[in-house]
Order: sequence, then C-alpha cells, then structure tokens
Amino acid sequence: MSVNESLTRNCYHPANTSHIAVRESLSDEQCALLEKICPAGLFKRDADGRVNVHFQGCLECGCCRLIAGQDSLSDWQYPSSGAGITLRFG
Ligand code: SF4
Repeated sequence: MSVNESLTRNCYHPANTSHIAVRESLSDEQCALLEKICPAGLFKRDADGRVNVHFQGCLECGCCRLIAGQDSLSDWQYPSSGAGITLRFG
C-alpha cells in the first residue's frame, strides 16, 4: 500500500480554525524546511512566497513543531476536542 493510499484510510474532522500558525517573516531556508519535513505536504508557498499550512489534513505528528520549532511556527497545539484526525491502521 502506498503512503497516499494509507493516508486516505484516515478519517479527518477538520476544525474551523487552524491549530498551527506560521510566522510572518520566514527565510527561504525556513520555508523550504517546512515544505520538506511535513509528511502530508501541508506547507505550501503562495504566489507571494508566503507559507500557508493546510491544517485540515494534519496528521498531528508534531514533526514541524519539533524540527522547525518556534523560529518558524508561532503556534502549534492539538486541534480542539472532537476535531482532528482519527488514524486507521491496516
Ligand atoms: S504536525 Fe505533522 S502533519 Fe501536521 S503540519 Fe506538522 S508536520 Fe505536517
């Protein structure tokens, strides 16, 4: 089973607001790191070069928090109760 096939087995309950916030002024290296480390590929640069996080698909793995840290993220918390991902294995 491919990673994409495995990800589609999960169940997502997106919150109305993001549980992750990216800092306004990031260097190109910080942007590239965020794009590289997220296993779900949720960090994307827009036409103006700003990084947006498509939080609805978050796996809640914490990689961005651990690797990029507070230099790149101004906020990271688990989604509110009842929202987020339900992992399905197998
Ligand atoms: S917690 Fe994991 S899946 Fe969610 S945005 Fe960060 S790296 Fe991506």
